[in-house]
Amino acid sequence: MSDREASTQVWRDYGDIQKARMLKQRELMAEYDNTVYRPAIKELTERCARIGHKQGKFHSNGLGASWFYCNQCGAIMDRDPPEAE
Ligand SMILES: [Zn+2]
Repeated sequence: MSDREASTQVWRDYGDIQKARMLKQRELMAEYDNTVYRPAIKELTERCARIGHKQGKFHSNGLGASWFYCNQCGAIMDRDPPEAE
């Protein structure tokens, strides 16, 4: 294996190791996320919406859509074009 091939393999293996870790984290956190985290974030976001989101960072996805994040709760706001429901 050449040095270049060895470097490419290291880069690929790094990606595989990181992906495996992310998938394991997701698996280990799934129950907590579904029963505690997501409901808490949903309640928080709804409460923030009632008092009014505060416009924060601008984001563009490079595919023609852009939005702002709420500075208080992180919700997406003022999306352009609006998200289809
Ligand atoms: Zn908010």
